[in-house]
Amino acid sequence: MSVRAVKLITEDGRRVDGRKPDELRPTTIDVGILKNADGSALIRQGNNKIIVAVYGPRELHPRHLALPDRAIIRCRYHMVPFSVPERKSPAPTRREIELSKVIREALEPAIILSSFPRTTIDVFIEVLQADGGTRTASITAASVALADAGIPMRDLVTAVAVGKVDDTLVLDLNHLEDQYGGGDMPVAMMPSLGQITLLQADGTFTLDEFKRGLELAIRGIKSLYEIQKRALKERYASLALELRRGRS
Ligand code: ADP
Repeated sequence: MSVRAVKLITEDGRRVDGRKPDELRPTTIDVGILKNADGSALIRQGNNKIIVAVYGPRELHPRHLALPDRAIIRCRYHMVPFSVPERKSPAPTRREIELSKVIREALEPAIILSSFPRTTIDVFIEVLQADGGTRTASITAASVALADAGIPMRDLVTAVAVGKVDDTLVLDLNHLEDQYGGGDMPVAMMPSLGQITLLQADGTFTLDEFKRGLELAIRGIKSLYEIQKRALKERYASLALELRRGRS
């Protein structure tokens, strides 16, 4: 399929999946879905399906990697072989190694690492189905899984990408828009604190596009933040119910 054959915005201003430019993909987050992890979350954002498991804080092996004054975070982003149309090798690719680092750095500022010296907090991300914006969806889900594990945090971290397709700024790109569009800008932030923890840009943006793109991303982040908080509240409500049932 050549770039010219793909029309990404229709005459009436709709995108390939029918969304308006400033519309997020339908998103749900389920918390505490894995019994054996300390914290977990499953995010569905459009066709993306991503599971995050958090272990820790726990003792770090080998011990010489431990820091005397704080915990360290280890993060592994991985796409399963059936997550994309052509089978992906299960071995970690350069992209996955880079994204593991990018995601860790986006989450780190939110975590109060000094509470748990000499320990590690491990974040495992498995992309089950990918359709663009998996790094940002992974960050959004990972911060919820960290909260589910009871890790003290300054704020949640929420992320979304904005981009340019057919010269229109759009929120939350799918893979087709990411592949054939003119630019992609993933943004992560701590919404209550108003602090950005990740800002990347691929493609070219004018200063005005950059400013409007960032505003659009922040609007999307605010909506996703509400979904994260609601998911955590539902988890606490169901835990409280289980506890009450256990006592009676
Ligand atoms: P992000 O998922 O954060 O947007 P990229 O821009 O690197 O990261 O990837 C965009 C999309 O390209 C992914 O979400 C996925 O749908 C697709 N993709 C990534 N790696 C592969 C792969 N090995 N094979 C097929 N599609 C891939």
